[in-house]
Amino acid sequence: MNEECPICWSSLNSPIRASGDKHPIDCPRCGEFVVSGVVSSELYHKPLNGLQIANASGWIRQYRQRGKILLNDVETLRNQRTPTVAEKANKLLLYLSKEFPIPGQSLNFNWNESPLLAVTWSQNVEELSYLFKDYLYGEKVFLIYELDEQGIQKFKISPVGWAYIDSLKQINPESRIAFVAMWFDEKVKPLWSEAIKPSIEAAGYEPLRIDMHQHNNRIDDEIIAMIRRSRFLVAEFTDQRGGVYFKAGFARSLGLEVIWICPRNELKNVHFDTRQYNFITWEDGNLEDLRKALQYRIEATIGRGNYKPQTA
Ligand SMILES: [Zn+2]
Repeated sequence: MNEECPICWSSLNSPIRASGDKHPIDCPRCGEFVVSGVVSSELYHKPLNGLQIANASGWIRQYRQRGKILLNDVETLRNQRTPTVAEKANKLLLYLSKEFPIPGQSLNFNWNESPLLAVTWSQNVEELSYLFKDYLYGEKVFLIYELDEQGIQKFKISPVGWAYIDSLKQINPESRIAFVAMWFDEKVKPLWSEAIKPSIEAAGYEPLRIDMHQHNNRIDDEIIAMIRRSRFLVAEFTDQRGGVYFKAGFARSLGLEVIWICPRNELKNVHFDTRQYNFITWEDGNLEDLRKALQYRIEATIGRGNYKPQTA
């Protein structure tokens, strides 16, 4: 007898072969992830309800494939925001465009495929069918169909659907990383810890500063790779560091959104070519202003993310 997934209770693809306290799960709906004994007993004693299961298996499939679910993730799983109908339908449309990338190709998929429930964060096949037939086909006309020789409907993505998919393909739409380019100096420590880091986290992204790995301001492959994986970049111009200009320019060249911030008394020093950008500025020491302004700017230009900082 196969065991069940501690998240969604589907029968697992293969039995759990625990090594130490690691229990690798291979679930047809949630995908592959690892839980500890404490996490699975927590979930067995207080199982998720139907809506929580839809959100949790969606979250795991989107963000934690082959990763670990820690005890403090369990609260995150219980409290995930439910995506709107439009967001779920977008996930389905993007998925279909990846699975069936050739325009005109029929969308031959099986309604009972468990991964589709997780991909669309849906509770059941009825919801999935609603997203497909009522929303994407009926309302938005992002799908069209024709009848084959046997009179069976063959759906495909419509021209309007492809145009909409293009508009959704921002750079790294699923990334939760906000890369922060700034001077590394004792003087700007509060700027990071009291304004930049908390505002990015409050907007739902993971702030990443490369000096966490001791880099002495060198632009190396790791920095380039990290910027490539980011959702957007925050460039902070205290002391007019060359590295900050370089990273901001590189991010722009990839098409990433850059949020430009600079203390008001240094704004006159920023390079002429960057003056066209809408800088967030603040009076010396007024970090609370910056914290709010940066959070609002991220939410307005990028949209809210769903990253939650790990507390333990
Ligand atoms: Zn599962």
